[in-house]
Amino acid sequence: MSFEAITTYVQQNADIAKIISAYLPLSESHKALRGKCPFHNDQGNSLMVSPQKNIFRCFGCGKDGGPVEFLSEIEQMPRAEVVKKLAEKLKFQHTNITV
Ligand SMILES: [Zn+2]
Repeated sequence: MSFEAITTYVQQNADIAKIISAYLPLSESHKALRGKCPFHNDQGNSLMVSPQKNIFRCFGCGKDGGPVEFLSEIEQMPRAEVVKKLAEKLKFQHTNITV
């Protein structure tokens, strides 16, 4: 399985609401979750999280993406490293994840 395929897998299966909740409180608003964006000086609740689509988007600074982008940005970690960690966390069964 290619690294691309593993990335797709973790983007879809790592629970973004759970991941973001570890860094900031999220509150329910309509069908989405909202919170204070950690990537800019947020005065409101600009960060929107969609558990259905497993993505986040900030209406203040424009940052968006999936679990990989969020963790990569907040932990200042390379994407490949994040994908590997998430894959391990999801107990992704693959003998040779090369990044
Ligand atoms: Zn922001």
